[in-house]
Amino acid sequence: MDKKRIYLFGDKTADGNEKMKELLGGKGANLAGMCLLGLPVPAGLTITTECCNEYYSNNCQLPSGLMGEVWKGMEVVEKRMNMKYGDPDNPLLVSARSGARTSMPGMMDTVLNIGLCVATLPGMIKKTNNPRFVYDSYRRLIMMYADVVMDKAEGLDKGIRRSLDDMLEAYKEKRGYHSDTDLTADDWKTLAEQFKAKIKEVLGTEFPDDPKVQLEGAIKAVFKSWDGKKAISYRRIEGIPDDWGTAVTVQAMVFGNMGDTSATGVAFTRDPAVGTNVFYGEWLINAQGEDVVAGIRTPNPLNNDTKNEQNKHLHSLQEQMPDVYKELVDIRSTLEKEFTDMLDIEFTIQEHKLYMLQCRVGKRTGTAALNMAMDMLEEKLIDEKTAVKRVAPIQLDELLHPICDPASEKEAKLLCKGLPAGPGAAVGKAVFSAEKAVEWTRRGEKVLLVRKETNPEDVDGMRVSSGILTSLGGMTSHAALVARGWGKCCIVGAGMLDVQEDKRLAYIKGTDIVIKEGDILTLNGTKGHAYQGALKLIESSENPRFQAFMKIVDKFRKMGVRTNADTAEDAAIARSFGAEGIGLFRTEHMFYGKGSDQPLFILRKMILSANDEERQNAINELEPFVRKDMKDTMIAMDGLPVTFRLLDPPLHEFAPQTPDKQEEIAKVLGISVHEVVARVNALHETNPMMGHRGVRLGITYPAITEMQVRALFEATAELLKEGKSPKPEIMVPVTIGGRELIITRATVDKIHSEVCQQFGVDIHFLYGTMIEIPRACFLADRMAKTAEFFSFGTNDLTQMTYGFSRDDASTFLPDYLNKKILDNDPFQTIDPKGVGELITIACERGRKTRPNLKIGICGEQGGDPKSVQFCYKNGLNYVSCSPFRVPIARLAAAQAALE
Ligand code: PEP
Ligand code: MG
Repeated sequence: MDKKRIYLFGDKTADGNEKMKELLGGKGANLAGMCLLGLPVPAGLTITTECCNEYYSNNCQLPSGLMGEVWKGMEVVEKRMNMKYGDPDNPLLVSARSGARTSMPGMMDTVLNIGLCVATLPGMIKKTNNPRFVYDSYRRLIMMYADVVMDKAEGLDKGIRRSLDDMLEAYKEKRGYHSDTDLTADDWKTLAEQFKAKIKEVLGTEFPDDPKVQLEGAIKAVFKSWDGKKAISYRRIEGIPDDWGTAVTVQAMVFGNMGDTSATGVAFTRDPAVGTNVFYGEWLINAQGEDVVAGIRTPNPLNNDTKNEQNKHLHSLQEQMPDVYKELVDIRSTLEKEFTDMLDIEFTIQEHKLYMLQCRVGKRTGTAALNMAMDMLEEKLIDEKTAVKRVAPIQLDELLHPICDPASEKEAKLLCKGLPAGPGAAVGKAVFSAEKAVEWTRRGEKVLLVRKETNPEDVDGMRVSSGILTSLGGMTSHAALVARGWGKCCIVGAGMLDVQEDKRLAYIKGTDIVIKEGDILTLNGTKGHAYQGALKLIESSENPRFQAFMKIVDKFRKMGVRTNADTAEDAAIARSFGAEGIGLFRTEHMFYGKGSDQPLFILRKMILSANDEERQNAINELEPFVRKDMKDTMIAMDGLPVTFRLLDPPLHEFAPQTPDKQEEIAKVLGISVHEVVARVNALHETNPMMGHRGVRLGITYPAITEMQVRALFEATAELLKEGKSPKPEIMVPVTIGGRELIITRATVDKIHSEVCQQFGVDIHFLYGTMIEIPRACFLADRMAKTAEFFSFGTNDLTQMTYGFSRDDASTFLPDYLNKKILDNDPFQTIDPKGVGELITIACERGRKTRPNLKIGICGEQGGDPKSVQFCYKNGLNYVSCSPFRVPIARLAAAQAALE
């Protein structure tokens, strides 16, 4: 039998159900689910995502016979709605909407009011007795259709929508109208005709008057919008595969703009910003859905729980239509029981009758995700496993993010207030366009995107900005939804702000304050306040809910999580976030930054020494500094393993480059500056990443290795004597095979026995290597003869596997991503095909030699949730990542174990 391509729903029955998201898209599946729950849903049909893929493989043609099936399905919809599509007396109008497997808010196109044409206009007027409404709907169809179907989907991009918008503005101005509601039926009628003429003139084709042509065109355009610019950008950011495709749902129209007994709204079954168990939403009387989500009018609160400073003077649905509100509240609890999650719902009230148009799992901030998971667990709506799965690992980031320092906030100059759409705080320079945001961020600036409203074209700019501030829109506007999904600090609907994007500035109404491009602002997204200047930010305090959640997470986690830390402070932070040891202590970090002057100076002496004696003297001088650093770190991690990596970078990185530093060292060494410069130059390497670094340093200068090992064992011995439990591990970097490890091990063993004897203690340690070079992966069986553990240094391993310089790849990687040569940045997420394959080989071969070989990862990818999942699947014992990513890795590891 041929595959079913059309799924009907309506009249409390449906062909599909809410589990069929892959085939029907989130929207189609959930509409079916709502029908099965007996909720009031206008009838319709969903065309499957498979048809979308067929459409693309068919050179953007609809699959053959599809429209025939659509028309057959439409007959059922007509019966269910008791109306007829294209009928002059009793016309049925429909919408065509997109719906991917997961929601992509506003990223694809929708066409409403399809079926209105010269022949059906009189019937609609007779039926509704409301010519103004009918002509308003007609002009909306013309505008949307011309834009989505005739201009964008055809790839013309002539900007017809803007031309029509300009015509509307000019029309209003000429007649002295202030708002769209001032236009009469005749005005809309005249404008509709003018629009049609303009469309012909600009696009070269007529707006189709045939309802059949209209519907077919709209279906194609929705498919086409899957490959629109904004949808592609969003998929890249969210990691949504291109081959999922979108479904198209064709659904009978109901109207929220049929006068004051009609309305439309959007609601969340719980507060999406903080997660509180209250019904939360917004509505607009006499409006169509797009008016609420587009952020054009500031909407009314749904109920008392949704009231705030900005909207408290507006009527709530609870006050204005209590019976409809009550029905909606009942639906809220039916839906939560069925879906056991927070849902985002869209509804329309047509002449006092409530219809459900959509429900989907609602986007939420990290704070809300955590609170909801814990609440629902307490309410016994979900179990512990589900609670763990409910929070995306990356969302935890927000909970660890800074907030405004309350003292500094008290003193700060408040610029404006808006709705708190995304929590936390952000400081940055104001920019007024998405392009500027991207451009400035590229050059290293932190920016805040300030807009009247954001639209889907702005996603790239929103993504890179530290925070978002808009003058229009409600909590369900595009900016709010998208920012919340990303856990970004965001304020919307700041009505006091008059944003003039073209002039690249914003006025604060009623004051003489002007925000210019580049001005520094601070946003408090938790309160909805924007301030002048940079406020002090502080870390969010320990959150008991977070702790309780992480305890549950750890019940399911099987893989260890360590941290990359080079100082006692970082080690302590990571430990407080649950790190179970250090997976990478980069010894060389003691020569950078705070307190590094003295050890760096001695290191320079060592590097520039002319003979063994000079070098040994410098090395002896350096040892106490190294020992102290190692000791402090082991104290912070007492009882837990600490992996110390032997010195890794090429030494010339530390050579003095500036004349004053060269002079300083020349004096100490008793040589001329000229000689210093000559020695620095002699160290120069053309390709230092592949030069004299890592284990190679110790092969040439064993004394350097001896010093580090001695420092470590002495620190350990001292701690043992102090009654502590140090657990040192020695890790040899950038090895290429077994022999380097054998040679280095001999040095380690020699120093080990010396120190044990000297201190009279028995020091236990592990000896292992980093795996950073493809050759090492292949020779892992030999390496494991000497190495007791492996740690994949996936930064270098990726660099060496790809031949992409890790320091320069950002110049060309974006092109590789845009042109789909690569799916992800391999320096962020382990590339499973190449680097991943090498890891798999190394694990297998290593464990063949040494079955209990301990294996971890300490490259940057160790804190990336997808890579954590990969590591779990490959049987790694632990991942190691930067302190702030420890909770993220813990959650990702637990989720991997639950899969
Ligand atoms: C690596 O290469 O993955 C690694 C952790 O070492 P580094 O980044 O210090 O080269
Ligand atoms: Mg490395």
